[in-house]
Amino acid sequence: MSRILVFANQQGTGLSSGAKEALAFGSRLASSTGGEVRSVTFGPFAEAGAKEAIASGASIAYTISNPLLTEYDVELFVNSIQTVFQQSGADILILSFDKMGKDLVGRLATRNCASAITEVVDFHTSNDKPTWIRPIYGDKAYGEYTTTRSKVVVGIRQKSQELAVIDEKAVGEIIPIDYSPSEEMIVTKLVVKIQSALSDIRLEDASIIVSGGRGVGGPEGFNDLQTLAKLLGGTLGASRAACDAGWVPSNLQVGQTGAVVAPDLYIAVGISGASQHLAGITNAKTVVAINTDPEAPIYKRANIGVVADYKTVIPALTEKLKKVLV
Ligand SMILES: Cc1cc2nc3c(=O)[nH]c(=O)nc-3n(C[C@H](O)[C@H](O)[C@H](O)COP(=O)(O)OP(=O)(O)OC[C@H]3O[C@@H](n4cnc5c(N)ncnc54)[C@H](O)[C@@H]3O)c2cc1C
Repeated sequence: MSRILVFANQQGTGLSSGAKEALAFGSRLASSTGGEVRSVTFGPFAEAGAKEAIASGASIAYTISNPLLTEYDVELFVNSIQTVFQQSGADILILSFDKMGKDLVGRLATRNCASAITEVVDFHTSNDKPTWIRPIYGDKAYGEYTTTRSKVVVGIRQKSQELAVIDEKAVGEIIPIDYSPSEEMIVTKLVVKIQSALSDIRLEDASIIVSGGRGVGGPEGFNDLQTLAKLLGGTLGASRAACDAGWVPSNLQVGQTGAVVAPDLYIAVGISGASQHLAGITNAKTVVAINTDPEAPIYKRANIGVVADYKTVIPALTEKLKKVLV
């Protein structure tokens, strides 16, 4: 029987999309192993999050309401999750492998002498012991993994899970944890938060993404992509090459080591389509590629291809759309 704890991170008062996926995965695992799911939520809205977690399948929802946990801080979050993981007696800790999860999984595994397994999309069980399934070789195959330690920290790939059906009448217990992280635990502090003018919608939540690569040629070209993205009600993305060149901030990176996205429309501009980039857009519904090279690998993934210089296509498309949309 598995004892499962899900870290249910919040966005405002509600659970984040990643937390909902982690809870759905945890509930499925609990049903297969005869176990139960518990959750932990933080900050001033922890109780609201706990109620949502119960409606999503948790039987016990731990809360730490300390206001220091309003904003993400790696040390505070690791210490707080660690405290609840130990107190809950759970042996499986599940969290979304989103940007925050990428920060947390390894640290939490180390603190608990646990195995860590990331980008998990599924599992099967034998004698109540899970075998974890995750994509490998840039999503070309699936690997199956068992772990050797008594505890395991599992990072769930974003956009890989169907969400649980919400049961508002579900009954569960909310247990406040008496733990007060202190300011002294904060090793680095965010003094000024500069809102990036380029990214107003979270990539992971965007339904339309206009993404630029090395073929865009420099930061100026991204202004045109940004205009198009705004017009479509979407947001800007980028390849690693464009981020590494410093043309756009690294939080716009899509791919294996960036954001995993699932938009309805993904417009790839001057992006060759390396496997590491494609790993981030597996779940994109329609991919439009604009590339001067007709042999570019992106065309194997694209639903619509435009073999042309983006400098001719993007301004023309933007003007046309302005007439229709504005
Ligand atoms: C471990 C590892 C992890 C990685 N993780 C990621 C990741 O998360 N995300 C990611 O993106 N990459 C990642 N990479 C890098 C990846 O392998 C590629 O190097 C990168 O994606 C290439 O970026 P690009 O397509 O922008 O550039 P390029 O491969 O250089 O392609 C540029 C494209 O632009 C086209 N082009 C040029 N001029 C124009 C024009 N005027 N109009 C239209 N098209 C034009 C060219 O034909 C070309 O196809 C990773 C690599 C490694 C080793």
